[in-house]
Amino acid sequence: MKFLFLLLLGISTLFANINLIKKENPDSNTTLLVIGGIHGNEPGGYFAASILATHYTIHSKNLWIVPNLNKPSIMANKRGIHGDMNRKFSVIKKNDKDKKIVETIKKIILEPQVSLVLNLHDGHGFYRKENQGSIFNPNAWGQTCVIDQCKLPTKQPFGDLNIIAETVKQNVNKKLLKKHHSFNVKNTKTKYEDEAMRLSLTYFAVTNNKPAFAIETSKNLSSLTQKVFYQLLAIEEYMKVMDINFTRDFNLNEKEISKIIKNYGTLEINHNILLNLSNIKKSLSYIPIKSKDNDFTFSHPLGSVQKKGGKYIVYIGNKKITTLKPQYFKLSKCCPENYVVEIDKKITFVPKVSYFNVNDDFKIVSENGYRVNIIGFSKKGVKNENGLTIRLKDMNKKYSIDKEAKSYRVEFYDKDKFCSMLVVHFK
Ligand SMILES: [Zn+2]
Repeated sequence: MKFLFLLLLGISTLFANINLIKKENPDSNTTLLVIGGIHGNEPGGYFAASILATHYTIHSKNLWIVPNLNKPSIMANKRGIHGDMNRKFSVIKKNDKDKKIVETIKKIILEPQVSLVLNLHDGHGFYRKENQGSIFNPNAWGQTCVIDQCKLPTKQPFGDLNIIAETVKQNVNKKLLKKHHSFNVKNTKTKYEDEAMRLSLTYFAVTNNKPAFAIETSKNLSSLTQKVFYQLLAIEEYMKVMDINFTRDFNLNEKEISKIIKNYGTLEINHNILLNLSNIKKSLSYIPIKSKDNDFTFSHPLGSVQKKGGKYIVYIGNKKITTLKPQYFKLSKCCPENYVVEIDKKITFVPKVSYFNVNDDFKIVSENGYRVNIIGFSKKGVKNENGLTIRLKDMNKKYSIDKEAKSYRVEFYDKDKFCSMLVVHFK
């Protein structure tokens, strides 16, 4: 399977299974690299990275984003299906299944223009210097800016890790949703005191003279929205430290973040099927695709497909969105780019892969003998549903693609080969 990501903003590069999104300005070598999803069960980090990729514009300097580093573990909603990826940056076994990804992200970190690295996590509890019980204590990780050491040995921009983390912490703490969400700086003093962290991504960066920090929001926050809120708040503070000038197309508050998180965007398959994922049913059957080499293009950076037991499971991050049961077809190469549809008695040209809105009724007016199959409509003895006037009440709700039973598939075939699918949406 081939995965492609269509992003309105920024350039997306797929290298060795890693999706790297670059938002660049020609005037600068200063680059912030944000890495989400090293741990698959920490969605605050990867949903924040994805929003950064799709809802932020960078006006000066550069922002690089890897929204979902450990994609298989994200789909499984597990820390690491092949073990902890964040313990593989010092040595990695030859046959380790994460080897390719780890080596690629190392290369990206070491790119000369990368000036600062953020590794995003959701950690247990709320870090406090004093022990205040099982949730608030020195062993907790939540709500921290993590550094491996106070500063880098050589003098360089952003090398004063502690000063930067303290600045970020102070500014984040001015905007808390609740008082006990306060951020702290956690210095793991990796070189001397933390053997495990010596194997981590940030320590790899730091030992290669790249300023690096982890942002840990708390797993104990009450919602994904709150985790994403704090991740974005902290990332913005790092951008301010780096003098990266940005705007976002929403207000940074729980209500608007929650709305963005629920928007799963679209999935386009083989450039002949378009599905709106935000309101899609849990499973759809008889999806006309090829038996192999299907092309899945998501508008959402966290979109991915897993083939399991002959079905295709569609994910946005760790959220299972829908299951597509395929019916395999060959694709026709001689189909029109537009179809003629009479929508509410008005002739309209509809692009071959799109949604169209209907108030009362519609009629497909296909002239060249393409067979029309409206899924959820049936009339005895009729094989080609071209030229029939159809209303919402003619449709069997069982076959709608959306939960409200308002959207239905209109499929076009060239004899036994599939052309493309339109979706009719009754208002
Ligand atoms: Zn983590």
